[in-house]
Amino acid sequence: MDAALRIVLLCLLLVLSGCFRTVIQYTPQRGPHQTYQVRSGDTLSSIARRYHLDYQVLARRNHLRSPYLIYVGQHLSLWSEAPRASYMPTNTASPKPRIKSDFKAPSRVKKSAKRVAKRTPGKSGAVSLRWPLDGKVTSRFGRRQGRPHDGVDIGAKEGTPVHAAAAGEVVYADNRLSGYGNLIIVRHSHDMFTAYTHNQRNLVSKGARVQQGDIIARVGHTGRASGSHLHFEVRRGPTPVDPQAYLPRR
Ligand SMILES: [Zn+2]
Repeated sequence: MDAALRIVLLCLLLVLSGCFRTVIQYTPQRGPHQTYQVRSGDTLSSIARRYHLDYQVLARRNHLRSPYLIYVGQHLSLWSEAPRASYMPTNTASPKPRIKSDFKAPSRVKKSAKRVAKRTPGKSGAVSLRWPLDGKVTSRFGRRQGRPHDGVDIGAKEGTPVHAAAAGEVVYADNRLSGYGNLIIVRHSHDMFTAYTHNQRNLVSKGARVQQGDIIARVGHTGRASGSHLHFEVRRGPTPVDPQAYLPRR
């Protein structure tokens, strides 16, 4: 997995934060500072910065792999390698941890200037997209109720087919990111990705190659979604861009 993909995954939850609010509780840490207990709003990067560590070193010490999922209440080993068993994946265990990925808490994000979409025809990595489904855009890219909304919401009935916006490789197809429901990420070029969230069902698996227009999922409202819709987003590397800048007008 290379840097661009890692970054897009790191940023993904930020993107999705526009669709719902995640309620996360914070339990203060007590005891020696050998470990750090993850708090609401933390990211692996922010924790690493606080302790003057490289986030990749911190990730390695805690056996975290891209997309570096951490969750509130998790203890991270700062200075030495953590026992492996403490950080085994919990995808089948219950209760499911509330998972956060490595992005800044939505309330602290003030990067609207960077969120301006750019049309970049001809630019390396740019790919022409098709709409993932027919349907009304119920919420556009940009700020919504004071919070970032890094994609477009397209309203559609449960079960409506979701099509790949362009050819590419499925780099994520899972439902382990709490709140996001069934999620698919397709990589189209070295730095261009599309994400499809709240799916009723994912119909492709990680590693699959898809062609533009292939049906990859069905619309749903899994995760914390208000009603049945597709939250669709486009990333150029780490930067969320307005999908409508890349999609045909309609
Ligand atoms: Zn949305």
